[in-house]
Amino acid sequence: MDKTRLLHDLMADYRSSHPRSEKFFHSAQQILVKGGSHNLRLFAPFPFYDAQCHGSKITDIDGNTYVDFWQGHFGNILGHNPEIVLNALQTYFQKGLGLLTGFPGESQKELAEVILSRIKADSIRFTTSGTLASMYAIMLAKSFTGRNLVLKIGGGWHGAQPYALKGITAFAGGLDQMESAGLNSLAEATILTTEFNNVEELEERFLQRGEQIACLIIEPFIGAGGFIFGEKEYISKTRELTSQYGALLIFDEVISGFRFHAGGIQTLYGVEPDLSIFGKAIGGGMPVAALAGKGEILSLCDSTISPEKRVKFEGGTFSSHPASMLAGLTFIHHLIENEDDIYPRIGRLGAKVRKEIEAIFTSHGFNVKCSGGDDSVISHSSIAGVHFLKTEIDIKKVRSPNEVWDPQVNDFELRESIFKLAMLKEGFNTFHGYGAISSAHTEEEIQASLDAVERIANHWKKYYFS
Ligand code: PLP
Repeated sequence: MDKTRLLHDLMADYRSSHPRSEKFFHSAQQILVKGGSHNLRLFAPFPFYDAQCHGSKITDIDGNTYVDFWQGHFGNILGHNPEIVLNALQTYFQKGLGLLTGFPGESQKELAEVILSRIKADSIRFTTSGTLASMYAIMLAKSFTGRNLVLKIGGGWHGAQPYALKGITAFAGGLDQMESAGLNSLAEATILTTEFNNVEELEERFLQRGEQIACLIIEPFIGAGGFIFGEKEYISKTRELTSQYGALLIFDEVISGFRFHAGGIQTLYGVEPDLSIFGKAIGGGMPVAALAGKGEILSLCDSTISPEKRVKFEGGTFSSHPASMLAGLTFIHHLIENEDDIYPRIGRLGAKVRKEIEAIFTSHGFNVKCSGGDDSVISHSSIAGVHFLKTEIDIKKVRSPNEVWDPQVNDFELRESIFKLAMLKEGFNTFHGYGAISSAHTEEEIQASLDAVERIANHWKKYYFS
């Protein structure tokens, strides 16, 4: 396939329809590293800058409007700027309540209660990012068990914190490489990786090092690693082995929490982790994350605990920011109250997207598999990822990030650069091939996105098979 020409043409199109964004990007680059503060938002040739967003849509500073499936890093389950959250915040400020007050506030306790009512955990503490929550989770696990090894999934992403910066992408050559400088010299030796959905390898890791493992940290639904559900047997095995070897099980639910139903995905698996991390959706669009879990573990951050055991999970100027707590509370209440309407609908649309994108590309001779759904876990998932597999690869579904990142299996560039720009040209902002459907997306928008995929597949044929 002459991908170079295809990419060149798409970039030229993109440039001509985004002159203001291009200019803005060049000036931003002078003072912001690479033009921004979050690498994922800075796609090539340059990102578009948003001017307005509402519901399913976003309009950029050049006046282009997109139906958005990125939806605030997949957290906007109700679409952009849901009215219920805006109204709650307006009332809050009209009442004279503060921005950063530096006081505990009432909504914090209510949000804690409502999240704890949806999972099996004794207590919870809020932070401002999933990164911090996952870092504290691992520190607590190390203190609680008195052990030093962290087992994580190859392709798992828990934010840029020092205990999980190994084996995230394959850019450094495989899913078991360190991905950052500036870490403690022991970091490489104390983080182990294992392949997602590979029961034998998990058993082997525990057999070899089980007595030294403090925790297994895992996204039961892996996000950046390819939008893949853990298979039921595999997720049960994570509980069985961690319990058997006295290690803690940490579920990172930053993406999966409140995405598939009004609660944690752990309930759908019927598996109770020792600690759970939530983020994204629980803030209703504001910066909120949380660490929930067993009281005996979380109590190690109590400042009266003896210094050898105590974990200094106790600060954060913006932790439990009162307006953020209210936004989260309003949002989560709405999800719970409307659970039976919201989730089956967006999940049905997700299933349609996954099925039809595969069918469209297959009918044009491509080998495409969509991830993001697994009927054995939940029949309605609102997430869709697209994987452009090499023609000779014969698999029923993508089962692990190892397959997603293997250049012999999957054409990563085709998805991340070319398909992304092709969909933007059609008026759709996608992520990992498609992204997350919100309750604000209409049936017509979903159908229009599939019509766009059909046009793209048809157009690509002549490059691919000539
Ligand atoms: N864990 C998972 C599964 C994530 O997807 C992310 C962010 O994308 C994080 C942790 C880090 O969360 P935050 O970006 O809020 O620090």
